[in-house]
Amino acid sequence: MKIEILGCSGAVMKGYNTTSILIDGNILIDAGSAASALSEDRLCGIRHILLTHSHIDHIKELPFILEALYSKKDDKVTVWGSRDTIEALAGNIFNGVIWPKITELNSYKDIVFFREIPEGEIMLEGLAVKALPAMHIPGALGYLVSDSTGKVMFSGDMGFDTNFFDLAASLNHSLKALFVEVSFPDRMEDFARLTRHLTPALLKKGLEGRAPTTARIFAYHMKPRYIDEVVAELPPNVAYITGGEVFQF
Ligand SMILES: [Zn+2]
Ligand SMILES: [Zn+2]
Repeated sequence: MKIEILGCSGAVMKGYNTTSILIDGNILIDAGSAASALSEDRLCGIRHILLTHSHIDHIKELPFILEALYSKKDDKVTVWGSRDTIEALAGNIFNGVIWPKITELNSYKDIVFFREIPEGEIMLEGLAVKALPAMHIPGALGYLVSDSTGKVMFSGDMGFDTNFFDLAASLNHSLKALFVEVSFPDRMEDFARLTRHLTPALLKKGLEGRAPTTARIFAYHMKPRYIDEVVAELPPNVAYITGGEVFQF
């Protein structure tokens, strides 16, 4: 499984892209920055877009990604998310005011489909994808993506949730990588809890007391203005990403 981190920041700032993670060149997790990070040819290789939730740092380039796809290709593209996320996009972005409705866009070329992601595992482009409920806003999701050699877990945005860490621990050696959001430094834990995000201390609390994972653990979604503080506070077994990294698991 090839994973390209096009962007993974929790806010927009010069030099930092918001969350878009490309898997095997054709599955995109979140639409925060792919249109500005990828060439048009590579954009047109996307077949599925898995949205974690409707916050703007995760969807802001979706209109422009779809615009590239409409202009270049005839293959179908599916945008997946929870019912809350799909309804939020239809009501607030693709509503004929902020951007054309999907029905209007599809009257030009009927290739883009918005679909509620089912519970359980679905197969997309040879990968098994499972949506994981995330404690952030209603309908927020993380994703577990598997191929024949292993599993990779993406938290999406989430507050402290023992279920997430229990699942990661239960996957044992099959879990190759764990990408987990850490948005704020420890001194902002009250605000992090209020907005349902993690801090390094909350991540540590989630990892402690469970079977130690052999997976590589990466913190992401740091707010750029707090990156130095967050990185200094991360547990020693946790690496971090800021965008531009490429992994093969
Ligand atoms: Zn976010
Ligand atoms: Zn969010």
